[in-house]
Amino acid sequence: MRRKLAAGNWKMNGSLAALSQLDQIAQETGSLDVETLICPPYLYVSEALTRVSGHQLNIGVQDCHFETSGAHTGDISASMIADLGASHVILGHSERRADHDESSEDVREKARTAMAAGLTAIICVGESEKQRLAKNTLDIIGGQLAISVPDASKAANMVIAYEPVWAIGTGRTATTAEIDEVHDFIRTRLKDRFGEEGANMTVLYGGSVKPTNAAEIFATENVDGALVGGASLMAQDFVPIVRALAEA
Ligand code: PEP
Repeated sequence: MRRKLAAGNWKMNGSLAALSQLDQIAQETGSLDVETLICPPYLYVSEALTRVSGHQLNIGVQDCHFETSGAHTGDISASMIADLGASHVILGHSERRADHDESSEDVREKARTAMAAGLTAIICVGESEKQRLAKNTLDIIGGQLAISVPDASKAANMVIAYEPVWAIGTGRTATTAEIDEVHDFIRTRLKDRFGEEGANMTVLYGGSVKPTNAAEIFATENVDGALVGGASLMAQDFVPIVRALAEA
């Protein structure tokens, strides 16, 4: 049985005051049969966890280092994240692949450490506009999946997020036909490689998901939820997305 997940990525946005959005999200989504997650910046994780205590809303982070400890100034390890009580880590987001030159090999090492620490990894894959126009989308996604996703991955600790780079933060959403083609491809690759575990892994779509387009996206086969950037910052936008997923 695949788990439905609505995940919010706050990126480098938010403030202590903005954490009050979590109270509303927790209260208004708590009774829904959907896993919910918000990944604020590291600095706010501890306070966020305190605020959602006793609620179903999970708190995660947006990256981790691939080593468990050591001389890595400014970095955070997966075990520290687990120590606080956070549950998920987003890895290989296209903004990290671009801004920090992260390779799929880096992503795989981080995912290994994250899973060993008891976290669920959300591995992002996606093609650029240039790659899509050159009709290389499936090759790019296949390559990123093959390298970024560790062999030891299980449905319980691995989530894949298909995020076309050209749809992130642009207001442009992939068509349901484009989403369907890539999600079907991802599901086939996961089943071929991981068998039953791959059949049960949650696969999210990300890229300008909004309350107005969520239901249509969630009606697409093999879409088990969404990774949401901008529309996860305000409860008034995120809650309807979670509701649409619960009703899908
Ligand atoms: C993201 O940050 O992963 C994302 C999909 O952003 P947005 O929803 O703003 O496009």
